[in-house]
Amino acid sequence: MNCEEVLEHLGSCGDCRLHAALEARLLAMPALEPPEGLAGRVMRALPRTVPLGRELARLAAAAALLLGIVGIPFLAGLDRHRAAAEARMQGQQIFESMVSTLNPLRSDLPWKR
Ligand SMILES: [Zn+2]
Repeated sequence: MNCEEVLEHLGSCGDCRLHAALEARLLAMPALEPPEGLAGRVMRALPRTVPLGRELARLAAAAALLLGIVGIPFLAGLDRHRAAAEARMQGQQIFESMVSTLNPLRSDLPWKR
């Protein structure tokens, strides 16, 4: 559709005329910036769904479990066996998956603010 066809359509279509007029008014409005620190204040004002203490306890339990899965067979020298080496690899994959899951939450921790 060329420019003349667009103008011809606008002459006969009220919906498109209204759309073009609204878009022109929106483009003419000044761009507003949010106040400094608004995003941080809003995020801090949101209620926590899980209390921080319980969240940290769950993380600590997960870390202890992970150390057990990965560390104890290694300390016992079982990692020289093939099955144990495979289990250790799975533990490492679980750990990497947990890290990639928890990394986006790091900015929510109070000592990161
Ligand atoms: Zn139209």
